[in-house]
Amino acid sequence: MEVLVVGAGPSGSVAALALARGGARVRLVDRASFPRAKLCGDTVNPGALSLLDRLGVGAAVRAQARPIRGMRVTGPGGAAVAADYPNGLVGGAIERRVLDLLLLEAAVGTGVDFTPGIRVLAPVRDAEGRVAGVRIRSAAGESEMRARLVIAADGRGSRLGAALGLTRFARWPKRWAFGAYFADVDGLTAHGEMHVRTDGYLGIAPLGDGLANVCVVRDASHGPVPAGPAVVAAAIGADPGLSGRFSRARRVSPIVALGPLAVDAAAAGCAGLLLAGDAAGFVDPMTGDGLRFAFRGGELAAEAALLELATGRAAHPGLRGAFQREFGSKWRFNRALRTLVASPRGVQAAAALASRWPAPFRLLIGAAGDVRLVGVRPR
Ligand SMILES: Cc1cc2nc3c(=O)[nH]c(=O)nc-3n(C[C@H](O)[C@H](O)[C@H](O)COP(=O)(O)OP(=O)(O)OC[C@H]3O[C@@H](n4cnc5c(N)ncnc54)[C@H](O)[C@@H]3O)c2cc1C
Repeated sequence: MEVLVVGAGPSGSVAALALARGGARVRLVDRASFPRAKLCGDTVNPGALSLLDRLGVGAAVRAQARPIRGMRVTGPGGAAVAADYPNGLVGGAIERRVLDLLLLEAAVGTGVDFTPGIRVLAPVRDAEGRVAGVRIRSAAGESEMRARLVIAADGRGSRLGAALGLTRFARWPKRWAFGAYFADVDGLTAHGEMHVRTDGYLGIAPLGDGLANVCVVRDASHGPVPAGPAVVAAAIGADPGLSGRFSRARRVSPIVALGPLAVDAAAAGCAGLLLAGDAAGFVDPMTGDGLRFAFRGGELAAEAALLELATGRAAHPGLRGAFQREFGSKWRFNRALRTLVASPRGVQAAAALASRWPAPFRLLIGAAGDVRLVGVRPR
């Protein structure tokens, strides 16, 4: 086999799709069977949706998604401000179990050979130290899978990336996420919601008919993160702006916890292996653009792999540069926003300012939504 893609989340499926379209023989494996759930805010921003349009899967995703016209942000002192994306652009709210299956089906439809139920345990290296495949566990027991190139799209805290010394959990920030679905939530609109508080933030994505995805993120620098399911109920119950809207609501899924969230990457791969999506580094879901990095990161990893297959030259140094060029300015934007949000006084001041002077806030929402990718300047 030419290329083995590990992980059939958005970055793995997009990488596999792009590789197959480029003429490579591709095998895609995942430990899970699909459809499967994944903790996420379930929001695809307008820029990320436009990438799916270009890949030819945008129409299928839009058909299943609830349109999101912009964002509503509230601050700790009760300040609230909302803005639409410019030019009538929309993003989409869609459950990950639905989105990821659509992308996987598109990859399989392009000729990708997909096998679920394969847990990758470790990289396998040849005598020169180059990655030549992976060690796996399946229903049939433990064995090896060999490939000319491996793409590790195995998500945040990538097992392959960590084993090769390419990624590790960051010392800072230390944030945890807790998420669940709630039915019968009142006051949902066509805006995604971000409620920034002094001890973290809470995001709400409206999925239609009163169903909402609720994600709570807590920062350990504000004190110990409370354990378990109580976090979400406490975050809603203690918040006067939210508790009334959840008075009729029922939690309709288990609460999933994840953390610490941030993972640093030292490189985009090594000889024989390339990283894609969250496996190539993850900081914080606040700006809701992980899926854009996953779609485009998968595509870039596929382009790099096709180049290496054609020329025999190692592609991972070039992939690192491509990530920097494509994502560098958005990473800086996200870092600045996180620094602001880490300061309770900063949040209060920004929320109060935005409710009186909304123009910079609209700019922020456009930038967070990656509207430049659609050829629109945030304004
Ligand atoms: C709380 C939270 C909210 C978020 N909200 C948003 C949002 O609203 N919008 C947005 O754009 N982004 C959001 N993100 C980010 C987004 O979820 C990720 O960026 C995205 O899932 C990355 O896709 P991926 O394919 O790289 O990884 P994943 O989606 O994590 O897929 C990795 C796949 O690899 C498989 N796998 C893992 N290990 C192995 C193994 N050892 N062997 C075999 N298979 C394996 C997994 O089963 C999985 O299917 C959020 C993230 C969090 C944590």
